[in-house]
Amino acid sequence: MIYHDAIVIGGGLAGLRAAIELNRHNIKVAVISKVHPIRSHSVAAQGGINAPLGNHFRGVYDTWEKHAFDTVKGSDYLADQDAVIRMTRDAAERIYEMEHWGCPFSRTTEGKIAQRPFGGAGFPRTCFVADTTGHALLHTLYQQIIKFKQAAERKEIVIYEEWLVTDLVIEDGVCVGVIALDIVSGRLESFQAGAVIFATGGAGRIYGKSTNAVINTGMGIAVPYWAGVPLKDMEFIQFHPTTLLGKNILMTEGCRGEGGYLLNNKGERFLEKYNDSKKDMEIAPRDIIARNIVREIMAGGGFDNRYVHLDLRHLGEEKIMQRLPAIRDICKEFVSVDPITDPIPIQPGQHYTMGGIDCNTEGETVVKGLYAAGEAACVSVHGANRLGGNSLLDTIVFGAIAGSNAAQYIQGLAGKKGENTLCDTLKRAEQRINTLGKSSGNESYAGIKGALNNVMDDKVGIFREAPTLNEAFREVKTLQERYKKIKLNYTGKRVNLSLVWALELKGSLDLAEAIVAGALARKESRGSHFRTDFSKRDDAQWLKHTLAYYTPDGLRLDYKPVNIGPFEPKERKY
Ligand SMILES: Cc1cc2nc3c(=O)[nH]c(=O)nc-3n(C[C@H](O)[C@H](O)[C@H](O)COP(=O)(O)OP(=O)(O)OC[C@H]3O[C@@H](n4cnc5c(N)ncnc54)[C@H](O)[C@@H]3O)c2cc1C
Repeated sequence: MIYHDAIVIGGGLAGLRAAIELNRHNIKVAVISKVHPIRSHSVAAQGGINAPLGNHFRGVYDTWEKHAFDTVKGSDYLADQDAVIRMTRDAAERIYEMEHWGCPFSRTTEGKIAQRPFGGAGFPRTCFVADTTGHALLHTLYQQIIKFKQAAERKEIVIYEEWLVTDLVIEDGVCVGVIALDIVSGRLESFQAGAVIFATGGAGRIYGKSTNAVINTGMGIAVPYWAGVPLKDMEFIQFHPTTLLGKNILMTEGCRGEGGYLLNNKGERFLEKYNDSKKDMEIAPRDIIARNIVREIMAGGGFDNRYVHLDLRHLGEEKIMQRLPAIRDICKEFVSVDPITDPIPIQPGQHYTMGGIDCNTEGETVVKGLYAAGEAACVSVHGANRLGGNSLLDTIVFGAIAGSNAAQYIQGLAGKKGENTLCDTLKRAEQRINTLGKSSGNESYAGIKGALNNVMDDKVGIFREAPTLNEAFREVKTLQERYKKIKLNYTGKRVNLSLVWALELKGSLDLAEAIVAGALARKESRGSHFRTDFSKRDDAQWLKHTLAYYTPDGLRLDYKPVNIGPFEPKERKY
C-alpha cells in the first residue's frame, strides 16, 4: 500500500494547481494521472482565460462585479452566485501569479497582458497567449512542479503518470484513498491518503462530435459517482458553435473575438436575423450562437445542409499570423483550407461538461476529505451555460482553493485510516478485472462506444424533446446490458489498452445515463439545455440543481436549490 498525505487525481490545470497549493502548505502530495500531465486536455485550450484586468480601457472600468454579473447572466441564472463571486474576485490574483511564474501572455503595445473580447462581456476581458493559451498555462504549472523537484527547501511532488484510478475508497463517510492501475505493468495498487482531490476533467467523448481529447471519457467523474458521491447538473452539455467540419477540432471563440464573421450560403452574417443574437452578433454567448447556426442550416442557409462558414479573411494575414497561427495550421492540415484566403467550414460540436462532481465553493464534496476541482467538478460557476474563457479560470481558482482546504483538513487529522477497507476494495477491483479478462461475451469496445456516440449526437444534442430523449434513455440502458458481455481484444498485463478502454467505457455509459435522465426530467429550456417541447425557462419549477445518485438499484435523481446572491434572476434578453 502506497501512502501520501494528499493525492490529486489529474495532471491538468486544476490538478497541478491544487498540488502546488498543497505543497506550499508543506503537505506531501502525489499526482496520479492516466497520461503524462502535459498531455491533459488543458493543453489544447486555445482562446484564453478571463479576468477583469481592464487592460483595454475604453472609458468603462472592468470590475469583478461586472464579471460576476456576466457569468451569472450567461449561466441563465443556474450558477451559484457565491461561487461566481469567489471566482471573479480571485481572478486577477491568479492571473498575475501565472504571469509571475512565467506564463508568456500576449501583450498590449504598453506591455500589459493583452485581452480580447469573448461572449458575454462585450469588451476585452479574455487574457490569452495567441491561440495556445492552455499550452502556455499548463507548461507554466508543470515547470513549477519540476522546480520543486530540484529545490531543496520544498518537498517533491510525486507524479504517477500513466496510472488509471479505478475506485474511490470511503470508510464511514470519510475518504481514505483510491485504487489505481499502473497501465505499464498492469499492477493494481491501493493508495492511502488523508485527502483526495478529483481533477479529472470533462466527459466530452461520450459524444462522437466533440472538441475534446479522446482521453476525456468521463471515467474520472464516474469513479466518485460509483462510490455514492452525487453528480450535479449533468444534463448541461456545452455545444461550441465553431468546430471544424467533419473533424470537430475547435476553432476558438477567439476567431470571432478578433472580428471573424459567421456566414450562410448567401454570404450573409445570418446572426442578425435572430432576436437573441442580433445585438452581439458573433460574440453572443455560445448556447445562442450554436442554436442559431443549427436553425440557419435547418432553414436552408447552410452548405450541404450541414455547415456554415467562419470567415477570417478580412482580418488580414498579419493579424491571423500573430493572433490565430494555430487555427491556420489546423485548417491547412485537416481540411486543406487557408483561412487567409478562404472561409472555414464549421459546425457546432460538443465542447464542455458544465455538470460534474457536486461540490461547494470550498471544493468540498459530501464525503469528508474528498474534494473536486476543474471541469470534473460542478461548483457551480457555469450553471446552464459557461462563458468562453471562464473554464481555464475555474481550474486555477478552484484548484488553489481545493488544495488549500485539503491542506488544512489534513493538518487536523489524527492518523492514517482505512487499511482494511482499502485492502478489500483492491481485492474486489482485481476480481472485477480478472472477470473482464476471462469474459466469453461477443461484444466489442468499438461497437458499444460507437453506438453510444451516435445516440448522444443524434438524440441528446442542441435541440431535445421527450420522444427522442426517451429513445436515448432506452438505448443507453441497452448498451449498459451489452457492456456486461464485452470481450477484451487482449488479456496480457503490460500496457493493456483494451482493458483501459473497457474500464473507461463503463464510466462513459453511466454518465450518459445521468445526462439523459437529467435532460428528460428537466421540462424547461435553460442555457445549453433546449427542449423544443418546453421552450421557455421555468424558474418557478426548475431554478434548481439536478443531483444524480448511483445506487445498486439504478440511478436516482434529486434536486437542490441554487444559491442566489445579488443578481435577481431575470429573463435573458439581448
Ligand atoms: C479544444 C479545447 C479548447 C479549449 N479552450 C478553452 C479556452 O480557450 N478557454 C477556457 O476557459 N476553456 C477552454 N477549454 C476548456 C478547458 O480547457 C478545460 O475545461 C480545462 O482545461 C480542464 O482542465 P482540468 O484540469 O479540469 O482537466 P484536464 O486538463 O482535462 O485534465 C484531466 C486530468 O485527469 C486525468 N484523469 C482523468 N481520469 C483519470 C483517471 N481515472 N485516473 C487517472 N487520471 C485521470 C487525466 O490524465 C488528466 O491529467 C477548452 C477545451 C477544449 C477541449
